[in-house]
Amino acid sequence: AATDAEPALTDGFQLVIDALKLNGIENLYVVPGIPISDLLRMAQGEGLRVISFRHEQNAGNAAAIAGFLTKKPGVCMTVSAPGFLNGLTALANATTNCFPMILISGSSEREIVDLQQGDYEEMDQLAIAKPLCKAAFRVLHAQDIGIAVARAIRAAVSGRPGGVYLDLPAKLFSQVMDAAEGARSLVKVVDAAPAQLPSPDSVARALEVLKGAKRPLIILGKGAAYAQADEAVRELVEKSGIPFLPMSMAKGLLPDTHPQSAGAARSMVLKDADVVVLVGARLNWLLSHGKGKTWGEPGSKTFIQIDIEPREMDSNVAIVAPLVGDIGSCVSALTAGMAKGWTPPPAEWTGAVSARKEANIAKMAPKLMSNASPMNFHGALGALRRVVQERPEALLVNEGANTLDLARGIIDMHQPRKRLDVGTWGVMGIGMGFAVAAAVESGKPVLAVEGDSAFGFSGMEVETICRYNLPVCIVVFNNNGIYKGTDVNPTGGSDPSPMVFVPDSRYDKMMEAFGGEGVNVTTPDELYRAVSAAMDSGRPTLINAVIDPNAGSESGNIGSLNPTSAVRKG
Ligand code: ADP
Ligand code: MG
Repeated sequence: AATDAEPALTDGFQLVIDALKLNGIENLYVVPGIPISDLLRMAQGEGLRVISFRHEQNAGNAAAIAGFLTKKPGVCMTVSAPGFLNGLTALANATTNCFPMILISGSSEREIVDLQQGDYEEMDQLAIAKPLCKAAFRVLHAQDIGIAVARAIRAAVSGRPGGVYLDLPAKLFSQVMDAAEGARSLVKVVDAAPAQLPSPDSVARALEVLKGAKRPLIILGKGAAYAQADEAVRELVEKSGIPFLPMSMAKGLLPDTHPQSAGAARSMVLKDADVVVLVGARLNWLLSHGKGKTWGEPGSKTFIQIDIEPREMDSNVAIVAPLVGDIGSCVSALTAGMAKGWTPPPAEWTGAVSARKEANIAKMAPKLMSNASPMNFHGALGALRRVVQERPEALLVNEGANTLDLARGIIDMHQPRKRLDVGTWGVMGIGMGFAVAAAVESGKPVLAVEGDSAFGFSGMEVETICRYNLPVCIVVFNNNGIYKGTDVNPTGGSDPSPMVFVPDSRYDKMMEAFGGEGVNVTTPDELYRAVSAAMDSGRPTLINAVIDPNAGSESGNIGSLNPTSAVRKG
C-alpha cells in the first residue's frame, strides 16, 4: 500500500489501457514492436483481447470492420513509420467506407523528428495521417491521454463515422504521474453518437414527393446496415409497400428472399423507377453517379436522400428532398408520416418488378445446379449459396473480381450485417483482416470467399486464424490467375504473364502448415460437403476450390473501368 511518503503512481502505458477500458473497448488488433510491445503485454494482462497480426494492414482492416459491426470504434495499434504507414491504408479505407476506427501508432521522439535529425523510424506521422482520416491527434503528456482517447472515440463514431489517428510518441508511455490524478484525468464518453433528428419540414417534403411517385424504389446502403435500425427500416419498407434494392453490404438488412426485394431486378428498377429513396447509400461510382444509361431517360429520376452527412446531398445529382439525420430517426419519421394516410405503389409497378425478378431467378437457377468439373463460378457459388442459406447467422467475407461480383448476386443473405466485402474502393486485401474480426466480434462462424489473387494480399494471416483457433473457413476460388488463368507472355519469353500465378497451386497446404484443415475440391458437391463440415466444426479451414482457368471475365463486372489502348497492335 502507498504511504504519504510514497504516493501511488501510474504511467502512460497504464493510462492508455485504462482510458480504452473505461470506454468499453474490448479488443485490440495489433502488430507489436517498438515502442508498443510492453503496452500490448500489459493490455492482455489487464483483460483486453489482443489479436496480434502478421501485417498492419490486416490488423487495420480488422479494426475497421469491427467498427462497422459494433458501432464502436475498432482499435488498431502499430509501431512507428513503416508500421504506421501499413496501417494507414486501412485507416483511409475505413474513412472512405464510413467505418469508425482508431489507429494508434507509436512514434519517435518529437525533438529529433521535428529537427529531422534521423531518429529510429523517423516520420512526421501526424501530418501524414491528417488528410486520410476524420481527425488526427498527438498526445505529449500523460495527463492528456484520457481526453485524447475520448476525443478520438467521439470523432470516430459521431456524425458520419470514419477513421481517427492517435499519435503516441514513445516517451509518453513511460511518463509517470500521481495515480489518483491520473484516474481523474480519464474521460468516459457520454452519448458518443447522439440521435440526429431530421427537421419536420424535410420529412414533410420527402413524404410529399414520395406520395406523387408511380414507380418508387428504396435503395438501402451500408450506412443503413451500420445504423442498427433494422426494425425501423423493415417497417418503412413493409408499410410503404415500395420495392427495395440493397447495396452489397446492406444485403440481409431485410432478407434477400423478402417479397419486396428487387435485387434480382436491379437493372430494371434503376432504369424505370421515378422516385428513388436513398437510405444510407451514396450516389458514387457503385450507383453510376445517379446518371447515365443505368438510370434510364435523362431527367426521369427524382431523388430523396437520407444521410447523416449534410454535404453528401447534391454530390452528383440534385437531391429534391434531402433528409439529414440518423437512419433510425429519419426512417421512423417517414413511417410515422405514412400512418396519416398512405397509398401503396401501383400494382402495375410492383407486379412488373416481381415478374422481372422471378424471370431472372428462374434463368439463373439451372446454372447454379451445374456440377461441372473443373468448376465454373456459378456451380461453385451455387454450392456456397446453400451453405449460407442453411446457416443464416454465419458471416460472409467476400473479395476478388469474378468471385466478388458473382457471389454478390448469387449468395442470398438472410440477416443484417452478415456480408462484409471490398466496399467503396473495391479494394483487395480486406479478406483475412475482416474474417478475423468477424469471428472475434461475433463469435459466429465465418465463411471467407476469396479470389486467388485477392487472397494473396492477406494470406499470411491464416497463421493468425490458426493461432487464435478462430471458426473461419476460407474458400479460395483458384483459377490460376487474375480474372482468368490463361494469359500468356506476348513475347513468348519464359516469364509468365503478369496476370497469372503458379498453375494448380495448393493453397490448402498453407493452412495445414499451421495446424488447420486443408481440403482440395474439384466439384460443387465436394465443395458443399467440405464447407458444411468446416462451418459445423468451427476448425480453421482452407478449401482450395479448383475453378476452370477459362471461367472468369476481365475485371469481373466492372471491365468497363479498364482504359484500353487505341494504338495497341492486334
Ligand atoms: P453503399 O456503398 O452501401 O451504397 P455508402 O458507403 O456509399 O453505402 O453510403 C453510406 C452512407 O451512409 C454515407 O453517406 C454515410 O454518411 C451514411 N451513414 C452512415 N451511418 C449513418 C447513420 N447512422 N445515419 C445516417 N446515415 C449514415
Ligand atoms: Mg483468380
